[in-house]
Amino acid sequence: MSQSVIQPPAMLGMLGGGQLGRFFVIAAHEMGYKVTVLDPDPHSPAGQIADVHLCAAFDDAASLEQMAASCQAISTEFENVPAESLARLAQSTVVHPAAEAVAIAQHRIKEKTFFKEAGLPVGPFVPIYQAADLPDSPDMYPAVLKVARFGYDGKGQARVANRAEALLAFQGFQQEACVLEKMLDLDLEVSVVLARDAQGHIEAFPTAENSHLNGILDVSIVPARCSEVIKANAQVLAKKLATQLNYVGVLGVEFFVVGHQLLINEIAPRPHNSGHYTIDACITNQFEQQVRVITGQALGSPKLHSQAVMVNILGDSWLYRGEQVEPAWHQAFAHGQLKMHLYGKQSPRKGRKMGHFTVIGEQLDSVLNIAKVARSELHIGEM
Ligand code: ADP
Ligand code: MG
Repeated sequence: MSQSVIQPPAMLGMLGGGQLGRFFVIAAHEMGYKVTVLDPDPHSPAGQIADVHLCAAFDDAASLEQMAASCQAISTEFENVPAESLARLAQSTVVHPAAEAVAIAQHRIKEKTFFKEAGLPVGPFVPIYQAADLPDSPDMYPAVLKVARFGYDGKGQARVANRAEALLAFQGFQQEACVLEKMLDLDLEVSVVLARDAQGHIEAFPTAENSHLNGILDVSIVPARCSEVIKANAQVLAKKLATQLNYVGVLGVEFFVVGHQLLINEIAPRPHNSGHYTIDACITNQFEQQVRVITGQALGSPKLHSQAVMVNILGDSWLYRGEQVEPAWHQAFAHGQLKMHLYGKQSPRKGRKMGHFTVIGEQLDSVLNIAKVARSELHIGEM
């Protein structure tokens, strides 16, 4: 049965108060909805601008009960939200994505096993539950050992050259369940953010080209500078994945490009950092799409209207002198094609995502040049 459309000024719910939640609140407000945010941080970026901020843990029974009673549809921005909380809310209100899909995305072993069983291309990996599972075979090394749960931005990962190093890393991770992935010689990384509605309609945003620094997304370039075949295949694979997962909501799919081959790296059951360019360069952005999906509206057009380069601004931009200094915003603000987004976070820390900017324009070359200049003005290393 199709879900009826939830109309403004209904209250929507968001689990998680980070920047992704903040953009969701902005999109919901533009359409006349109200938003309740659940996040334990009293200064969370989304909590600051929500209509109601429940400042509590993600499994707090009273807060979940209040959300279930007051929100007509609920989504998440935080990948590690307890799947049980989603399941509980789903008993009495609309929740997208479903707890089952989130549980798969939260666990690297379940995630990679799902890709494999769904016939989706994935690089060589071995589930590691105990030291004896660590393979000896030289074909598997060098490798990356990744903790199965709660990793993000390259955290909970170790690069290992052989079994002895893998064993040390596994012990360092307190023998938590891990995956061991063969280290791949990447030509490129790309991603696709898409939305799938309850009727199974899918709209995918254009394929983005991503580069990472220290395991953290640094830049997304759209359109991706790779063959049309690779860009189109990434779209096909992302849609196939969403359908096989019976996913409803906004989904980020990360790919490795090795030669002419695409391999799925991981999925995020929410809008994705590499989809931030959609705010300034697409007809509909990924957060509006998230509001549309959970309220049962038709999906908006994902069409790209400008070439885009998105650059993350980390806490490092405040700390380059060894002491905290406010970045030279006036220099970045001198570029008319640069769209600035700061998340309202109070304390800059190394590697903490404080904001991003997107440069848009008609020619990718000139967009890239402006992005390069603005990076140096904000003390972001060369790309
Ligand atoms: P996170 O959840 O922290 O984003 P990822 O698994 O996406 O973790 O890894 C972060 C980055 O590390 C990737 O985007 C890629 O640049 C690099 N990386 C991860 N796994 C591999 C691998 N098997 N081979 C080569 N590079 C990898
Ligand atoms: Mg990743």
